[in-house]
Amino acid sequence: MHNQKRRKDVRNIAIVAHVDHGKTTLVDALLKQTGAYEFKEGETTVMDSNPLEKERGITIFSKNASFLYKGTLFNIVDTPGHADFGSEVERILKMVDGVLLLVDAFDGPMPQTKFVLRKSLELHLKPILVVNKLDRPNTRPEEVVDLTFDLFCELGATDEQLDFPIVFASAKEGWATLDLEDSSPPDRNMKPLLDTILHRVLPPVADPERPFQMLVTMLDYDSYVGRIATGRIFHGKIKMGDPMTLVKRDGSLEQGKVTKILKYRGLKRVEAESAEAGDIASIAGMEEVHVADTLADPKKPEAVAAVKIDEPTISMNFACNSSPLAGKDGGRFLTSRHIRERLMHEAMMNVGIRVEEVPGEERFKVSGRGELHLSILIETMRREGYEIEVSMPEVIFKEAEGEKLEPVEEVVIEVDPGFQGVVIEALGSRKAEMKNMHPSAVGTIRMEFLIPSRGLLGFRSELLMMTRGTGIMYQNFYDYQKFKGEISGRQQGVLISQNVGKAVAYALWGLQDRGEIFVRPGDELYPGMIVGVNNKGPDLVVNANREKKLTNMRSSGADEAIQLTPPREMTLEFALEFIDEDELVEITPKNIRLRKKKVTR
Ligand code: GDP
Repeated sequence: MHNQKRRKDVRNIAIVAHVDHGKTTLVDALLKQTGAYEFKEGETTVMDSNPLEKERGITIFSKNASFLYKGTLFNIVDTPGHADFGSEVERILKMVDGVLLLVDAFDGPMPQTKFVLRKSLELHLKPILVVNKLDRPNTRPEEVVDLTFDLFCELGATDEQLDFPIVFASAKEGWATLDLEDSSPPDRNMKPLLDTILHRVLPPVADPERPFQMLVTMLDYDSYVGRIATGRIFHGKIKMGDPMTLVKRDGSLEQGKVTKILKYRGLKRVEAESAEAGDIASIAGMEEVHVADTLADPKKPEAVAAVKIDEPTISMNFACNSSPLAGKDGGRFLTSRHIRERLMHEAMMNVGIRVEEVPGEERFKVSGRGELHLSILIETMRREGYEIEVSMPEVIFKEAEGEKLEPVEEVVIEVDPGFQGVVIEALGSRKAEMKNMHPSAVGTIRMEFLIPSRGLLGFRSELLMMTRGTGIMYQNFYDYQKFKGEISGRQQGVLISQNVGKAVAYALWGLQDRGEIFVRPGDELYPGMIVGVNNKGPDLVVNANREKKLTNMRSSGADEAIQLTPPREMTLEFALEFIDEDELVEITPKNIRLRKKKVTR
């Protein structure tokens, strides 16, 4: 047994926070006060969420920052918040020895942070609670502490974890205190928080004398040096030019040498000559490195016991946009070649994504860990200027001993009391099996189900509809199980445009009795494009371009005041959940449209 050496001059911590609870502001304050980074007017940290993250309320891309305090290097890593990133969360948490749970003093802990919190507790990390925004009126810090305590109990925290340190703070005003009575200390700064981290988070276990070993947690790409692997160095040390061995997940080895070492300083990465156990560093030099591989000493090339990678459970076909409106919405990358390159790059950098070319066709089968995982890729490509069309998401079946197996997920749903009935009924018809139901720490009803991934497709938007936007759901792959039998798909037909041209208000007004309309007057239509729902029957080809006939009758002024119900806002989530097998979603930088694969007239 090795004596566990620790690196006393380093603290590695992760931040867990719900969007808007103040993570960016807090990191800014810490960096400013420790002098790690000269801020320019109006500048904030890179931890600032990107627009996609703000919209979805979760962190998608992890970023790091670091600074020095009392001669100790603090590395702070950001955690993705969603269960679809399960194994990624685990890998990130393996880099750190403590977590800061940042909670708004008014809102209290939010269910979205629970997944990461549970993982942190399972990995025996000891959290520090930071109750933020104490400068605001009407905060309820004591209640928030109680709610957090209850939440930890619910998540199975140990006694030691329940004895978490509590820091009250105003990230905005740049102060922290351990004593709620003293929320206006004379010397207002972040020292109480920094000292708490210093004293309560264990220094990393790290022995520089053992053979070099680093677990690859994140990847990025630089056109000069190629792939750059970021992770925590578990043991040993390494310097520029040193030989190293890549231990791949399948156990195969590859030789290379270190061509670049980068370390985080403030928000930037700076080049370094060497790095050693306990550091979170980035290393270039291995062409074929992937996430969850190990960089190791050639004399003792051993893998760090890695977190298993979640297998893809959902796939979709991607192709270039073949609609008559292709290229008219400002897309810059339109061809199959563009899409192939982009997808291949994604498959290289993003562990959970698998890309296969469909032989003989200009299509790619893209598999990922859930609808959210794939929709984030689509949304990112769209914002980069790609136009694509994608097919209905389908689950990936397996076969074992002659039996058909399908992915089953564990889903946790939280709704306000009163909504549980409708949710149970809706999930019942999707072949869900309830495991548990009880009131949660924050006054909601918490229900746990096992449900085939198939049954969950499209459920998120239904849940939001049923609960008027208040329901919360998080899901996690559970297991492959015996096929659970047919689940009926979409019940309604659609209204399909017959013609090319702009949608006309009068025509839409005539159609809206049939069901929800997806387009606005003036929107460009084409044959085969879906303009709305036909609640009462099968698919129907309609004329949505029809103008009102001018008659001799004098219509009195305002055109009988056409009353159009506002159309449905076409989001990617809705589109992916709504489409059927014979339909496609067309995604351009400006629009999301639905259409039939084959045009019928
Ligand atoms: P993030 O999404 O967790 O990174 O949150 P931000 O740091 O971007 O903060 C979200 C909002 O809360 C911003 O408008 C901040 O100015 C505000 N905010 C953050 N910390 C505090 C605080 O301590 N007090 C007050 N009053 N507002 C804060």
